[in-house]
Amino acid sequence: MNVQKIKNGLVIDHIRAGTGLRIFNWLKLDKVPFSVALIMNVSSKHMGKKDIIKIDNEIDIDYSVLGFIDPNITVNVVEDEYVIRKISLSLPDRVENVIRCLNPRCITSSETGIPHVFRLVDRKRAEYACLYCDELYRAGIGEVL
Ligand SMILES: [Zn+2]
Repeated sequence: MNVQKIKNGLVIDHIRAGTGLRIFNWLKLDKVPFSVALIMNVSSKHMGKKDIIKIDNEIDIDYSVLGFIDPNITVNVVEDEYVIRKISLSLPDRVENVIRCLNPRCITSSETGIPHVFRLVDRKRAEYACLYCDELYRAGIGEVL
């Protein structure tokens, strides 16, 4: 399958197959005026199948949130049709207002206006703990607000 090359923008690659659409929606790419492509189930030597998002515009992405969603994703920055930079992601040490603590006894459940802050406690298992009640959560797109 051929998708037109992008001129200036981003190629978000190595997205786990099946999660591309949720990342596409998280980036609100359904509402943008420039060319975007979501390519699903692309054959990949290493991953079997993967999703790819191509964005023909230089947009700002919160890379710490993208790393929280999936640190194995890679981002290629394209200028004049050439990849000039590859951005590799990692799990951020801390995320704020990305996921919500679901513990009903947590202060964030009973009071409004408190930021939902989580700190990385286990990088291998991609586990985060609520700053207030220590409830554990796994990083990933499923949990994104
Ligand atoms: Zn909590």
